[in-house]
Amino acid sequence: MLPSSHLPLNILFASETEDADAWLPRLKRALPQDRFFTRPEPDTDVALVATPPPGTFQPLKRLKLVQSLWMGVERLLDDPAFPKGVPLARLVDPGMVAAMSETVLAHVLDWHRHHYYYRLLQKDRRWHRLNQFLASDRTIGILGLGELGSDVAHKLDALGFNVVGWSRRPKKLEGVACLTSLDAVLERSDIVVCLLPLTPHTRGILNSKTLRKIKLGGAIINVARGGHLVAEDLIAALDSGHLAHAYLDVFEHEPLTHDHPLWQHPGITITPHTAALTEPRTAIPRIAENVERLRRGEPPLNLVDLDAGY
Ligand code: NAP
Repeated sequence: MLPSSHLPLNILFASETEDADAWLPRLKRALPQDRFFTRPEPDTDVALVATPPPGTFQPLKRLKLVQSLWMGVERLLDDPAFPKGVPLARLVDPGMVAAMSETVLAHVLDWHRHHYYYRLLQKDRRWHRLNQFLASDRTIGILGLGELGSDVAHKLDALGFNVVGWSRRPKKLEGVACLTSLDAVLERSDIVVCLLPLTPHTRGILNSKTLRKIKLGGAIINVARGGHLVAEDLIAALDSGHLAHAYLDVFEHEPLTHDHPLWQHPGITITPHTAALTEPRTAIPRIAENVERLRRGEPPLNLVDLDAGY
């Protein structure tokens, strides 16, 4: 039985990465009738989680909803302690969607306008111009046309780039050539942007075979998960001159270790998993909506499809 529409709910906030002091005052203002706490209690109704501490789920005997504070949920799905049968909702945060598009646009323009190259020349005080291209000369391939990929695709289209995208199921997006053949997307692309969820089907998808299908002198932007990329294959593609540059925000093991070869490579721009951070100001109304839906006995929004893995 779901709780009646007037009952207060017990809500656990459990995260090793998100700052409870930034979230809790806002959550309490958005859901004033509910009780919030940060240590697991048996009568917890809703768990708000992102990298929850080990042992978080075991004591929760009445749990009705796990609401992720992140858009990617692969770590929760891989956790053997995750409570089977409890619905898992992922976060779709408009602030995060906007941030991701800004990051991808910045990288696409960095490559398109050759800024990555001029930064290298500046080190040697070299004055050398490359040819100019129009945005319409370039094709950007987006792997994953979900909440993030479709927003990125629309904004690139608005700047005049040709945009092709890959999704699991057929899709229609205005201004975007939506394909279900990965090869067809790669072969048309100057830049490939990875915005896929990490699942058994997408792990290692950026590898020697797929990278070589991207056009000569192109680039990759991985802002999804480190597990999508085979790092040695990327280094080989850069060293051979096939790819000009790579923008990496995510890594198999984070933080990237001090001695990792990716740090030193002149063809790689690294950011510390910051392409899009959860933004409590825009995320909390979405979380509150799901809590209210639970209270009213309605299905929560953005439920994860456990079979698809995202
Ligand atoms: P989403 O809305 O679930 O969209 C996922 C897209 O990938 C969908 O278009 C889906 O196809 C497609 N897809 C999934 N499996 C596929 C497969 N096997 N073959 C082809 N296409 C496949 O996800 P999202 O909200 O856009 O987020 C994407 C990922 O971004 C997250 O999972 C997370 O890992 C990452 N992320 C990173 C950051 C960061 O700061 N770096 C921040 C937020 C999120 P269908 O449309 O057919 O379902």
